[in-house]
Amino acid sequence: MAEARLPERIRVSTGSAIVLGLLRGRLDAKPTTIYLLTYRDEKCSANCGFCPQARTSKGRADMLSRVTWPPFPTRQVLSRIKRVAKTHAIKRVCIQALNYPTVFDDILSLVGEIGSRVKVPISVSCQPLNREKMKMLAEAGVDRISIALDAATEEIFDKIKGKLVGGPYVWERQREALRDAVKIFGEGSITTHLIVGLGETEEEIVQMIQWCVDLGVYPGLFAFTPIPGTPLENSPQPSLSNYRRVQIAHYLITRGKTRRENMIFDGVGHLVDFGVSEEELWHVVRTGEPFVTSGCPGCNRPYYNERPGGPLYNYPRQPLPEEIREIERQIGILCPKSFRSSE
Ligand code: SF4
Repeated sequence: MAEARLPERIRVSTGSAIVLGLLRGRLDAKPTTIYLLTYRDEKCSANCGFCPQARTSKGRADMLSRVTWPPFPTRQVLSRIKRVAKTHAIKRVCIQALNYPTVFDDILSLVGEIGSRVKVPISVSCQPLNREKMKMLAEAGVDRISIALDAATEEIFDKIKGKLVGGPYVWERQREALRDAVKIFGEGSITTHLIVGLGETEEEIVQMIQWCVDLGVYPGLFAFTPIPGTPLENSPQPSLSNYRRVQIAHYLITRGKTRRENMIFDGVGHLVDFGVSEEELWHVVRTGEPFVTSGCPGCNRPYYNERPGGPLYNYPRQPLPEEIREIERQIGILCPKSFRSSE
């Protein structure tokens, strides 16, 4: 059955295609997850303002965020995944899905075909599905599901991907789908995406991170990236100091080291106190861990938000010591000498 419905073609992120040997190229950082994107001739039926795949976007149809996604025959991609998975070079496969009427069948058949070839955790990143469909995905072997909130507040959500741009998404329905997903997949097995830099304050996005964590949903952080041909093509990326502060808050909250209520924000919503001791804060900064890509386990999304030459919003690997020193400068708070392990 699944065999019959298998879509003929599928898009593969350029980095993943190189890992799979479908394209030749040099990679500064190899993706540890194979990223697939459902293929169709038309654009997505949703209309998210940041997305080149959106219904009214004039952006390139082979792009998602900064990454290009050339299409390949699905069977060829599946056999390469099987071959490369044997070498343990991949930790996860992520199926990212556009919004169109038959997308669920495409996802389900892809999950079945991958699962019949390799034992690798599969993430599905898709529109909110009803409970029955989510159960079918869980039964088919999907490890994690991701339903993107993207925005930190309802107002921004409506403006960027909801009713104000003719999008099908409704804030409360999106949050309800996350609640349902937790019931079906279990706490800690759900991901959402949050984009920093869509006009929210640090206080608002930290509030949303805490909401996700309290629900049992893990939020993966993205930096807004302007893509030519989208309505937001001329909007700026978030400043690095803004992004770093949110990354630190995200790390502390998702690791249960503090909560949003313990943090202090200034009059314009900037984080000024993370709700942990200075010593703990600087210890955490110096591990470099808050600045590594966040999302499903094994997802490092190299260069989704940044040029390979940097600056890197999300590090696809552990940052180097000199990069951590640079991050300390970007955060805009001076690390007291007494907390520095080496100078
Ligand atoms: S966090 Fe990574 S693996 Fe998970 S859904 Fe998002 S892009 Fe896919």
